[in-house]
Amino acid sequence: MISYGRQSINEDDIAAVVEVLRGEFLTQGQQIPLFEAKIAAYCGANYAIAVNSATSALHCACLALGLGVGDYLWTTPISFVASANCALYCGAKVDFVDIDKATGNLSADALAAKLAQAAKDGTLPKIVVVVHMTGLPADMAAIHALSQIYGFAVIEDASHAIGASYQGEMIGNCRYSDCVVFSFHPVKLITTGEGGMVLTNRQGLSQRLQLLRSHGITRDPSQMQGEPEGAWYYQQITLGYNYRMTDMQAALGISQLKRLPEFIAKRRAIAAYYDLALHDLPVSLPWRGEGYESAWHLYVIRCPSQEKNPKANRNQLFQDMRQADIGVNVHYIPIHRQPYYQAMGFQAGMFPHAEAYYQEALTLPLYPDLSQDQQDYVIAELRRRLI
Ligand SMILES: *Cc1c(COP(=O)(O)O)cnc(C)c1O
Repeated sequence: MISYGRQSINEDDIAAVVEVLRGEFLTQGQQIPLFEAKIAAYCGANYAIAVNSATSALHCACLALGLGVGDYLWTTPISFVASANCALYCGAKVDFVDIDKATGNLSADALAAKLAQAAKDGTLPKIVVVVHMTGLPADMAAIHALSQIYGFAVIEDASHAIGASYQGEMIGNCRYSDCVVFSFHPVKLITTGEGGMVLTNRQGLSQRLQLLRSHGITRDPSQMQGEPEGAWYYQQITLGYNYRMTDMQAALGISQLKRLPEFIAKRRAIAAYYDLALHDLPVSLPWRGEGYESAWHLYVIRCPSQEKNPKANRNQLFQDMRQADIGVNVHYIPIHRQPYYQAMGFQAGMFPHAEAYYQEALTLPLYPDLSQDQQDYVIAELRRRLI
């Protein structure tokens, strides 16, 4: 089966992990701060805090931004459930903003309309989590402008988007947000097995994030009440978690980060080849726009509804492609359609563009080690079913 995405691990990656295994520290050694510094420099952010997953990163970012009981967090329905669950971990409430039907990202227009209504109802969000779906940057300047008017914080869930750029600058620089989150799960752009990172430009936030990932404990005398009682001394000054990354993972991350520019170039080439090979088919191809350079985590085509074109039936295509050993996938089931969210009162029909996207979306294989032959096979199998 040609999967829709997978990691690329070479001998340098393996050697980097083995070197840590032969050394003194398997965790809390020197690889973590090095990995953090390299990611921060790559993205142009002031601070980066490594954690054990993007889910933990989202949880910590919400806590550091003060999200709690009675607050609202808004996000897009077209994302992985973690983008919304982070609010529930904090005891806050979730609501959704429909997507832009062309880009698949949270719509700045829908956000503006919903904010105007919420301002009247007294239900403004404390945080909006913006997802760069498939690696395509969202309309950050417009969302940031709204955050200034309505006073909410912005977290970029950039799990799909390390290596993407927006208006000529790297995603991750926090120009339009308080925090940016990355995932290093194997299916994402670079991997540490499991892993994640939070970036921020604000020193106060970075200090809170460091506390939250490790039990709320500090060894910094300037953060303590009173004086340290000796060189062994630490204090717990808030409630944190054990969300730490290991040094083995960070070493793998450093090695993978070196390869990221090559990964992105390969992903862009594969996407461009799909664009060329599929442009005449009765499906719509991923949106492109000036100033929006995707990292191409996913290549999602959209099959128009069956009435318009009986051949372009997504469910049938999915089945047929799987039968041909091609691991196409569907990203994502709208979060508000999950039973856990339905039980909170969300219903079908509330976010129509997201629901239409879900009916039509089909993710094609895309990863750096996808061979030309494999891609040609995917294209041929798709073409003969659609022409
Ligand atoms: C993968 C993913 C996450 C969760 O990442 P983990 O590192 O697996 O916790 C969160 N948000 C989005 C959009 C994702 O794709």
